[in-house]
Amino acid sequence: MNCQPNEPEILSLGGELLTRLVAHDDWLPDAYAQLHPQRYQQYLLHADALGRFSMVSFVWGPGQATPIHDHTVWGLIGLLRGAEQSQAYARNADGRWTPHGAPQMLTPGHVEAVSPRIGDVHRVSNALADQPSISIHVYGANIGAVQRAVYLEDGTRKPFVSGYNNSTWPNFLDLSAEFNTAQNMTH
Ligand code: FE
Repeated sequence: MNCQPNEPEILSLGGELLTRLVAHDDWLPDAYAQLHPQRYQQYLLHADALGRFSMVSFVWGPGQATPIHDHTVWGLIGLLRGAEQSQAYARNADGRWTPHGAPQMLTPGHVEAVSPRIGDVHRVSNALADQPSISIHVYGANIGAVQRAVYLEDGTRKPFVSGYNNSTWPNFLDLSAEFNTAQNMTH
């Protein structure tokens, strides 16, 4: 029996949870909100031990953007701080990539989804010229280790594995906090 929820269910339920998470911008530690002067940064916040999902903060400085890229797995993107623009791309019959539909503006609290099923290729940029923007992403794999691709508009495909930019790692194997908080509340 397959007990895994299907993708529409994951995106729907996960989207609701992520919407709740990004409704408040008071929890992301500074270590995972650090700008780089040249490049957007991606910091692992949580990784499922079985590689079924991961959670990442993306930090864009003013003017920074991703190349056109795919994900190969489902992803949810919740805007925490600032504003970002996501432009979907579609491949033409001649193999070139061109913008597909209007760019989507993400503002704080807004969540959008990507996946090979619903549209997987896009380019994301910081919509603010003078401030950083930060979004919280959840993916259906350990995304930093997934072999995927960036694309040039002429159709050129460049394989890439993103990795993570962390200099410190969240201690997500220490599960005592919830227990200890509950203990303190009862004593
Ligand atoms: Fe993306």
